[in-house]
Amino acid sequence: MHIYNVILEITRKCNLECEHCLRGDSQNKNMLPTVLSSLFSKVKYIDYLTISGGEPTKALHTLELVIDNLERFGVNLGRIYVATNGYNAKRKFVNLMCRLFQICEDTSLCSIDISNSIFHDNSTDDANRMRYRMDELAREINLNCRNKYHTSHQATYSVIRMGRAAEWGHRDLKIRKETLEFYVSYNGIVYPSCDLSYKAMLNPKLQLGNVTDSDFDVKTIEVNYNTLFIESETLIIDNDGNLTPGINE
Ligand code: SF4
Repeated sequence: MHIYNVILEITRKCNLECEHCLRGDSQNKNMLPTVLSSLFSKVKYIDYLTISGGEPTKALHTLELVIDNLERFGVNLGRIYVATNGYNAKRKFVNLMCRLFQICEDTSLCSIDISNSIFHDNSTDDANRMRYRMDELAREINLNCRNKYHTSHQATYSVIRMGRAAEWGHRDLKIRKETLEFYVSYNGIVYPSCDLSYKAMLNPKLQLGNVTDSDFDVKTIEVNYNTLFIESETLIIDNDGNLTPGINE
């Protein structure tokens, strides 16, 4: 089985409480080991794997399980991407990312982004020191690491009305029929977008299947995805997971 794009929600834990967080309040949950073994025993090639959360540095053991299972089942990876808030700068995290990068076909396309948003607490020396340390640790072992700064204008206008920003965000979450993002939540459920809040994920309509099902396959996920678009080629999703047809562009 070949999947172009997979986003793994390795944890719902986080060390910050950002005002713009589209997930909502953090939860004390890490990806279940059976999800990783089920997924990687069935999928043989992934072009683009994103490690997501929550904050990935809060789940180093789960990150290690991701790598162990990729190696165990011989999954071929094109490239890897991870975003971190950089507040938990640990050598173990960058070493694990280094192991992950080495599995990929093209290490030069892999990257760690340290998300330096205005909604994070950037004001203190400690915060800056931690982000700098993360950058330094990654560079020590030649990992491609970007300290990604969002200006206030960019950051504010890109905030989606989801999670903690459900009431004040600036744009709707819109999904298009041609773009299935294949987001795998901690318990194996596959969702069509990586920008859903934990609350929206409770809507069964958005649950396209589960990688732990014995009959799981990409075709079924795609069929279930396409059934969402009977009335329109685009859909707007709100924080409760309600779907409204969008205007076709
Ligand atoms: S935006 Fe990221 S760093 Fe901030 S609370 Fe949400 S998951 Fe955590």
